[in-house]
Amino acid sequence: MSNMKTCGHGRENYVVIHYKHNHSWFESPKGGRHPSAYSMLQCKKCRAVFSSKSKYVDDLPREEGD
Ligand SMILES: [Zn+2]
Repeated sequence: MSNMKTCGHGRENYVVIHYKHNHSWFESPKGGRHPSAYSMLQCKKCRAVFSSKSKYVDDLPREEGD
């Protein structure tokens, strides 16, 4: 099982929760903001979370407060 896989509901259901960074607890600083080529997406339909560096990420709505 990989977190790189989308849930399959389609990009119209996805929002960006972390744009081109992540909050890894396995890197230092733990839980801090780590720049990444990947963005974290969440599906509004099934709440699945996954990462992607696809081009369409730039066109997705982004969650505020990140
Ligand atoms: Zn989904």
